[in-house]
This record gives sequence, structure tokens and C-alpha cells, in this order.
Amino acid sequence: MVLADLGRRINSALAQINKEPVIDAKVLDALLKDICAALLGADVNVRLVSTLRNNVKNTVNIQEVAAGINKRKLIQKAVLDELCKLVEPGIEPYKPKKGRVNVIMFVGLQGSGKTTTCTKLAYHYQRKGWKVCLVCADTFRAGAFDQLKQNATKAKIPYYGSYTETDPVQIAHEGVEKFKKEGFEIIIVDTSGRHKQEAELFEEMKQISAVVNPNNTIFVMDGTIGQAAESQAKAFHEAAEIGSIIITKMDGHAKGGGAISAVAATHSPIIFIGTGEHIHDLERFEPRRFVQKMLGMGDISGLLETVQDLKLDQNKNLMKNLEQGIFTIRDMYEQFQNISQLGPLSKMMQMMPGMSEMNFEGSDELGAQRIKRLMTIMDSMSEVELDSDGKLFHVQPKRIQRVARGSGTSVREVEELLLQHKAFQGMVKKFGGNKGLFKGMGAPGMDNSKSSPQQMMTQMQRMMPRGMNMNEMMRQMMGGMGGGGLGGMGGMPDLSQMQNMMKQMGLGGLPGMGGNRK
Ligand code: GDP
Ligand code: MG
Repeated sequence: MVLADLGRRINSALAQINKEPVIDAKVLDALLKDICAALLGADVNVRLVSTLRNNVKNTVNIQEVAAGINKRKLIQKAVLDELCKLVEPGIEPYKPKKGRVNVIMFVGLQGSGKTTTCTKLAYHYQRKGWKVCLVCADTFRAGAFDQLKQNATKAKIPYYGSYTETDPVQIAHEGVEKFKKEGFEIIIVDTSGRHKQEAELFEEMKQISAVVNPNNTIFVMDGTIGQAAESQAKAFHEAAEIGSIIITKMDGHAKGGGAISAVAATHSPIIFIGTGEHIHDLERFEPRRFVQKMLGMGDISGLLETVQDLKLDQNKNLMKNLEQGIFTIRDMYEQFQNISQLGPLSKMMQMMPGMSEMNFEGSDELGAQRIKRLMTIMDSMSEVELDSDGKLFHVQPKRIQRVARGSGTSVREVEELLLQHKAFQGMVKKFGGNKGLFKGMGAPGMDNSKSSPQQMMTQMQRMMPRGMNMNEMMRQMMGGMGGGGLGGMGGMPDLSQMQNMMKQMGLGGLPGMGGNRK
């Protein structure tokens, strides 16, 4: 059972008790039976499932619950808490420290995704402004160094390795020493795996660990391995001091439940999950967020983090504009630039509540193509046009024709771009200003820590026009970038759809648009 299905089953079990007229021990037992069956079906370790069942039963002692207490809520909360406990060891993961050397060593079986994840993690930190590098201490797998070199080069991350040296301990030592001298803050050491847990591998792991003296040892585990996870995690934990876990291959149809058992076996927190083969496919793992997302409640804090990654705060002009409710064409250009750097749009979409169910697969390529095309159009605009709110195009329609010619696109495409800009501008007007959403999102000098994700969400919802559903709006806004037809402009929402949506948002249509089409 994949995790989304697990979430659905647990959800429906929890919803079921709302329908029961009386909550008694029998109802609770039936609920727990359903939930446990679902967890076992997702490969969660048998012992953990049984602990969960007992804990819920102990927390919710049906006979003793005082009258007037909402038993349904009590049960639902207990289940949610226990699900979180499954993935939460209660230990803070190691946090790299700025301005000093942090050595991170990767361990795990061959094929678990170490090399891929090393680069993802390095890229993650690099994007956040750390000075990061990679060391390849895998001399066991043929072509291991080439693989790491290729990944690192693509992501522009400095690396160290050797084609001739056969002793991984020697390479690890040299690499780490070299990068230490060069003042790197995060040194990630990739090691070799074996096909199975072997004494030889563990010996090598210990030796490397002894020379590089890691601040954190990350155990990489394949999310698809099922019930074997516990013994594997235990074996690694006994040989190396595991500090954190990354579970890979949580995309596609991984059951994932098995790997979750590694938390209990190692008493270590899962810090990230891998959700694909590409460098962007790494998601920060937080127990409560994970459980909520699994149960279909959306991942608001993840979304906020992604939005923060857009570095709105580094873009002082944009922030100033946003606060005043201004959004120029240049602002849009810069946002597209940010988005294309940030990686797949679908990642962002999946974090929206209720959106995780939607299938955005295969749409990234289209989205990227479409953004490129829009940027090409804007490249043909003059400075004055870029810094404008777009109105001058309607006053002087010749400008539209010139831009279309200059960018090798059509008048219609330029018009569509202007329409899209107007839609964004409308959002900024609604969200911006003093009470606006963007204010809390990392504007310079602003304290952002006080808004919880929930507060943010409420705030966002409050700002929406009445009757307008947030998800629906996002889908319509992004529809053009994500899904839909091939060719030329990719899946642009058609003009009438766009006009419609703008009306819904209370922005009105574009006067005189659509008339001067070639
Ligand atoms: P290593 O032997 O532990 O270094 O594993 P590799 O990094 O070479 O990965 C083994 C295979 O798993 C490669 O084909 C990767 O592309 C793939 N892989 C790694 N992480 C993920 C992931 O999160 N999702 C998917 N779908 N594939 C992954
Ligand atoms: Mg490898």
C-alpha cells in the first residue's frame, strides 16, 4: 500500500467514528483494527503497530473518559499523536554550524541512493549559501567516482576523488583534509555500499569514520525495502553511530512504511526524503508535517519554505513593490527566473493542501518550456515596458506587435502574457499592502517567526474573495504552466478561462483585449 492510500484508509477510519452514534470500546477496537491493518499493509513494522494500538488504548480509556469530553476528538488526536511518534525519535537532528567545518558522512547499502542523495544535499546547502563540497570515498563500485563527478559538475559543487588510489580510507582522509584547509563549511563524504550487510563493508565504514571524524553520519535507506528495514537499520546503527536518516525513492509507488521503522531501530531522526532522481527531489522531513500531508491535510509549512526559498527577501525592489501592491512586468520576469531556479513546479503544487492528489507528473518539462517562452517575450520588451504595470501596451497596441515580432512569437501570445501578468498583479494587490501576505514572507527586517503555518493559511484564506477556493485558484493560476497541451505555448489556460477567473477574483477583465488578434 502506498503512503497516499495509507493516508486515505486512516482518514476514512477516523471519519467513520463521526458516524457512530455512541463511542464505546467496541467502536474504538474496530477503528484500531482498521488503522493497524492499514499500517501493516504499508509495511510498518509489526511491533511498532502493536505499540501504537496499545498506546492509543491507554490514552483513550473509554470507560474513564469523563462525560462531556468529546471522545471522537480525543481518539482522533491520540491516533494522530501516535502516528507522529512512529516517525519521531524525539531527538533533534544535527544542524551544521556556520563558519566552521561540518563533516557529514553517508552510509548505506549499494543502490540505496547515497551518491544521488549526497549531491542533492550538497545542492540544498549550496542554495542556502553554504560553502559545500563532496568527497568520493567509494572505490568499490566501478565508475563510482565518475558518477559523483558528473553529478557534482552539473550542480557546480567542488569535489574530490581519485581514479588510481584504491584505498577509500586514504581518499576520504586526503579529501577532507584538503577541503578543511580550503575553508569549506560542509564536507560531504560519500562511501561505498555492498549488496548486503557484510563484515567487510562495516569494517571499511568504521575506518573511514575514524579518519574523517564525522559530525553527522547519515544513513541512507531505500524506501521500498519493506519489513527488512528494521534489521538493516539496526546493523548499520551498531557499526556506525547513525545520526540521521534519509529515506530515498519515496516517489512513485514506494510503500515507505518499512523504512519508517528505521527511526525506532536507530533512535535517529529522518531529516529528508528523496522523491525522485533529480537534484531537486529532496524534501525536508518533519514528522508532524509528514503525517499531516499523508492524511491529505497539505503541507503548508513546506510551501512557505519553498516560497521563502524564492528569496523574496533578497529582492529588495520586489519586496518594496509588493508591500505597496505594485507588481511590474519586470517583477514577473524575476519571479519566473526564481521559479526556474527553484526547480519543478509540480513539487510546489504538491505541497498545497488537497493538491497532493493531483497528478502533475510529466508537466514539469512543459512548465519549464512555457516559462522560458514567456521570458523570451519579456526579453524583447524595453526597460520602460518592463518597469511598467502593463497598461501602456493597451494604450499603444503597436508595442504588442513589436514585442511579438522581436521575440518571434505571436500577438496572441504577448496578449496572453499581459493577461497573466494582470492576474498576478491582481493577486499582489489583494495580498500585498500593509496587511498583506507578502509582509510575513521574509521581507527585510521583518519578524516572520510569529506566524505559524496555520495562521498564514488562515490569513491567506481570509484575503481570498468570498466563495473563491484557494486550491481552485492556484490550479487556475498555475494551470497554464503545469498541465495541458503541447506545442507553442504549452498549456496556456484559454483566454475566456482566464477572464473568468479574474472576474471571480473581482479584478475584471482586460478592456479591449482579444480584439486586435492577428
Ligand atoms: P548508491 O549505490 O547508494 O550510491 O546509490 P545511487 O545514488 O547510485 O542510486 C541508485 C539508483 O537509485 C540510481 O539509479 C538513482 O537514480 C536512484 N535513486 C536515488 N534516489 C532516488 C529517489 O529518491 N527516487 C528515485 N526514483 N530514484 C532514486
Ligand atoms: Mg554510490
